[in-house]
Amino acid sequence: MTLLHVDTVSRFFGGLKAVDQVSFEMESGTIMGLLGPNGSGKTTLLNLISGFLAPSSGKIIFNGRNLAGARVDKIARAGIARTFQLVRILPSLTLLENVMLPAVFGHRAHWGKEAERVAHAALQKTGLGDRANASAGDLNYIDQKRLELARALAAEPELLLLDEWLAGLNPTELQEGIRLIESLSGSGITIIMVEHIMEAVRALCPRCAVMNAGRLIADGETSTVLSDKAVIAAYLGD
Ligand code: ADP
Repeated sequence: MTLLHVDTVSRFFGGLKAVDQVSFEMESGTIMGLLGPNGSGKTTLLNLISGFLAPSSGKIIFNGRNLAGARVDKIARAGIARTFQLVRILPSLTLLENVMLPAVFGHRAHWGKEAERVAHAALQKTGLGDRANASAGDLNYIDQKRLELARALAAEPELLLLDEWLAGLNPTELQEGIRLIESLSGSGITIIMVEHIMEAVRALCPRCAVMNAGRLIADGETSTVLSDKAVIAAYLGD
């Protein structure tokens, strides 16, 4: 089943075409890498899908409904969650409190004990289950990243958007991070991951798409895409 159809979506900033007529579809349960040099439009595209920006034109059809330009909270309720490059955790709250908010305001909107159960499950999935009552401000870098991911998972999304979630991890943490994403993907959630670490893209994504100067210049089987001449040229600065 097609879960997401990004249909000729563009976003201009003044005269700059940050995202230029991008189209692709994703089947439910699949995982896709989104690559491209800095400034090619990847984060803008995630912002458009998650509602942090409205498209200048085009449709974003999710589960059969066009969500283009809908508010962030409506899109979250529809079942799309994301992580941010700069983690957005609330340092003065506990881990559990951090994940309670999206459990209440996310896709399925749980209350009371049920919200707490969903929040605990999200912490468990990211390896933070035994530290629910610790203060988020005391976490080291990888655990902040885990909590950022747990916040997205607590919303129980059908589509998860990861914006360089693996960036900045040491080699051991990177392997742990890859395994974590692998297990999420295996559990059936649909994932788009913006990622610069090719090892991770190759390990996790059978499919990847590449942006350059706002356009989608390749989309297909990962090893084919990564050996594509236009893709290599884009990375070398053409
Ligand atoms: P990437 O994530 O691939 O590095 P971005 O989506 O962040 O690329 O940026 C794509 C282009 O859009 C860049 O030229 C960037 O400067 C521009 N851009 C992104 N956000 C804004 C904004 N809010 N206002 C103006 N220009 C922006």
